[in-house]
Amino acid sequence: MSDKILVINAGSSSIKFQLFNILSSKPEFQILAKGLVERIGIKDSRVSIELIQNNSFIKYDKQIDVQDHAFGAKLIIEQLQLYSVISNFDEIVGIGHRLVHGGEKFKTSTIINQAAENAIIKSVSLAPLHNPAALKGYNAFKALNPKIKHVAVFDTSFHMTLPEEKYLYSTPYQWYQKYQVRKYGFHGISYRYILEKLAAILKKDEKKINAVVCHLGNGASICAIKDGQSFNTTMGLTPLDGLIMGTRSGVVDPSIHQYICEITKNTSDAQTIASVTDILNKESGLLGISGVSSDIRDVTAAKEDENHPKHHLASLAIKMFCQRIANYIIQYSNDLDNKVDALVFTAGIGENGVLIRKWVLEEIKILSLKLNSKANEEKYDDYVLISDLSSVFPIYKIRTNEEIIICHDTYELLNKK
Ligand code: ADP
Repeated sequence: MSDKILVINAGSSSIKFQLFNILSSKPEFQILAKGLVERIGIKDSRVSIELIQNNSFIKYDKQIDVQDHAFGAKLIIEQLQLYSVISNFDEIVGIGHRLVHGGEKFKTSTIINQAAENAIIKSVSLAPLHNPAALKGYNAFKALNPKIKHVAVFDTSFHMTLPEEKYLYSTPYQWYQKYQVRKYGFHGISYRYILEKLAAILKKDEKKINAVVCHLGNGASICAIKDGQSFNTTMGLTPLDGLIMGTRSGVVDPSIHQYICEITKNTSDAQTIASVTDILNKESGLLGISGVSSDIRDVTAAKEDENHPKHHLASLAIKMFCQRIANYIIQYSNDLDNKVDALVFTAGIGENGVLIRKWVLEEIKILSLKLNSKANEEKYDDYVLISDLSSVFPIYKIRTNEEIIICHDTYELLNKK
């Protein structure tokens, strides 16, 4: 049996996993299984596992009471053994964990030793929604098998190259010095994958690539990559900033908090700073504007159906969503002196949203970007060039793969002499 690497993405009520075989010392990795434990600590929790067979995945899933992450981790290992993906735990030589926030401390991925664990715990105040969940995942697997090495791969690390004028807010400089208030940026693991992919597609040295990458999933951001490094990005201190997302507002006037708290004071709808932040994270964005759904497929369907009761609001939500993306694409092209090797659409909406890509590009008026509608609609596994030759720069849809980057970093750090 060859050595394997387990990649873990633990959320507050879920643990996603992928298991990779290490094929050679080059290294090359082959996915063996992936799955999810969901609704941890909530009614109707379940575990699912998808096994690769004849180049496609076969899914098995079952309902089971999962009280906490510790049991979730145990369940994952049991499922891998039950379906004979591993015969024993020791075949897993390393576990790579996705961590949303590494603060300024983690400019690269790291082996999780006591010092790293302490620093991650310290960064919890910067990512109170995300980092504690990842730590729960780490502790759960550590308890199951204390011998295994763990690696943390951060969404923020890629953006540690942002120049000062991009990462600073126009707030008192002391806030940065005393409280680390700055733009961190997220989705860096996905941007790294796209950058590697672009280097292969364009046959160009990664360090020379300039690109505008739109990672449009439930959470969405854009990154300007200059000479192979993050130069600007839309998310900020937290993932709430920037684009309009499924349920997140993206950028708003920071006075909204105080105004809402004041105006609702002494009413049945009284709000606090914490509740407004919660609404901006969970009840805003596409869902908040349209009142239809946080899933852009539902919002698009309501926009396309003139008889839908929320047709107008759904159309408005999509228009606002696309316009904001378009404006950042223009701004970031300017950041890159208009020398853009590629504009990329990736993640759930970016990869699959045929109409969204079209509508985003229609909102861009000062750059001559030309979509090839046949290529835009084409089915694909990996990537497709979706622009015409006459386009001012090439446009691609590329399927991202964050897990392979985590697997790669885990392997590299485990084998570092
Ligand atoms: P995250 O990882 O942030 O949860 P994903 O990258 O998986 O998000 O993207 C999820 C989103 O992708 C869904 O909410 C949905 O809006 C969108 N999506 C999935 N399939 C399609 C499709 N065929 N067309 C448009 N959007 C899609």
